[in-house]
Amino acid sequence: MRVLLALLLSATIAPPAAADPLEAAHRLVAAARDDAWGYRLLEGLTTEVGPRLAGTEAERRAADWSAGKMREAGFDAVRIEDFPITAWVRGVETAKIVAPVPQPLVVTALGGSVATPAGGLTAEIALFRTLADMMDAPAGALAGRIAVVTQRQTRFLDGSGYGAANPVRRAGPSEAARRGARAYLHRSLGTDSHRLAHTGALNYRDDAPRIPAAALSNPDADQLERLAARGAVTVHVELSPLSLPDRKAYTVIADIRGREKPDEVVLIGAHLDSWDLGTGAIDDGAGVAIVTAAARLIAKVAPYPRRTVRVVLFGAEEMGYSGAAFAAAHGSEADRIVVAAECDFGARRVVSVELPKGAAGTPFADALTRALTPIGVVASPVPATRAGDDVNPLGKMGVPLMALRQNGIDYFDIHHTADDTFDKVDRDELAQATAAWAAFAYLAAEMPVDFRASAER
Ligand SMILES: [Zn+2]
Repeated sequence: MRVLLALLLSATIAPPAAADPLEAAHRLVAAARDDAWGYRLLEGLTTEVGPRLAGTEAERRAADWSAGKMREAGFDAVRIEDFPITAWVRGVETAKIVAPVPQPLVVTALGGSVATPAGGLTAEIALFRTLADMMDAPAGALAGRIAVVTQRQTRFLDGSGYGAANPVRRAGPSEAARRGARAYLHRSLGTDSHRLAHTGALNYRDDAPRIPAAALSNPDADQLERLAARGAVTVHVELSPLSLPDRKAYTVIADIRGREKPDEVVLIGAHLDSWDLGTGAIDDGAGVAIVTAAARLIAKVAPYPRRTVRVVLFGAEEMGYSGAAFAAAHGSEADRIVVAAECDFGARRVVSVELPKGAAGTPFADALTRALTPIGVVASPVPATRAGDDVNPLGKMGVPLMALRQNGIDYFDIHHTADDTFDKVDRDELAQATAAWAAFAYLAAEMPVDFRASAER
């Protein structure tokens, strides 16, 4: 009905959307500045649903809540899909220095970690300043010890220190176990100096024993470094997380249906699941708010673009399931996805865009650059090769990717901690990011651009 109305309107009144995509993009950017719908959505999600750990009742509630909000907002074909996962829930997590100077340590279990024996375990630590140093230890060298890696994550505006330090959390537990360690502790992947530990998923290797693993807050890692430089240090750690097989995670999908080519899809996504320590405001409630608000604005301000704008809210990103699950469920539609992008880097402003390969020099690139330059976004000379964990598998299937890079200078101060809460979100920055996403999604849906063809030129 609404599509019909839009068609009638576009036939009678001069259709600004179709006639001048850039002019419509400018109107979208202006409208985003005054639109608080996304900010309120984020406030509601973090308040009424709260933490949304994958595979739990809370994630299901988040899916239903979000689908309800999108129906209310007039999205087309709102649906919820599910896929199987092994969920993981946190239990007790405590640690302390037993000797030489007893004191508490702030730790948090890594997602996927096994539990310690009931009552915990106590052992002398073997401390390494880098993961590479620990890897130099021969097999058996860490027998009976708690391995500790205190490698630091460097602060960068684009967050690239995270990728560099990521193996410390992902691979460290199994590498420590291979060398005989009973448990693994590491300096949080984080750039803050607060006594909050940063959780995140580990990846056990099949050929290594599964040992309990946790992150230390940065000041606690510093303290262990200083003590270890003075002599032997004994630590006690207790973790009681649980793995829950045969659970379901959820994907919420909703469309702004295209007026001419509804089967061609511009996919903009974010992940709805979050860690359990905070309320997932910046990771990734902000992304949910930005892409959903961007699509809603398109429907309000520049209805209806030629192609469909599809919002996908992924579940179980943090535990590493959703990208593969979506590609498996929707891979057969990959050739109809014009471009895909995921918003998963906090709530601050967009600072640059990486265009799909082959987009340079196209009318789309020109229009997008003109729409975004006034709000401080620059076009990167580097084409997008990665655009978020949930859409990267689509990229491998040939779907063109687009990346909108946000200011992440303090993202890793908060990321995956108890401090990831709504008060950290700046309304104006969220609105700027929404403007950038709205302009991008609209122009890709409205203009007859074919990134696949232009990439081959
Ligand atoms: Zn995330």
